[in-house]
Amino acid sequence: MKCPSCQADNKDGSKSCRKCGMNLQLPPLWQPTWAWHRKTLLIIYAVLIVTFFLVRAWLKPYVRKLPPEITPWLHPKGETPANVPG
Ligand SMILES: [Zn+2]
Repeated sequence: MKCPSCQADNKDGSKSCRKCGMNLQLPPLWQPTWAWHRKTLLIIYAVLIVTFFLVRAWLKPYVRKLPPEITPWLHPKGETPANVPG
C-alpha cells in the first residue's frame, strides 16, 4: 500500500510508513471534492435566497413609507423643510 502522506510503498498491513512514520492504520481523512463544495454552496445560497424572500414577504405589512421630510436627498427638486438640520 502507498503512504497517503509521502506516497512511499509500504508492506500491506504495516503499522506506520517506513519513510515518514505516518500511522497507516488510521482511517483515511475525508477530503471534500470540488463537486461537494459546489453542492454545499448551492444549498447555502438557495436557503439564503429563499429565506430572504420569505422574510421580506413576512415583513411587508410592517414596512411603512418614509416621509419625504426625513429623506430630502431623495427629493432634490422638492422644498426642504426649514426645521430639518443640515
Ligand atoms: Zn510516508
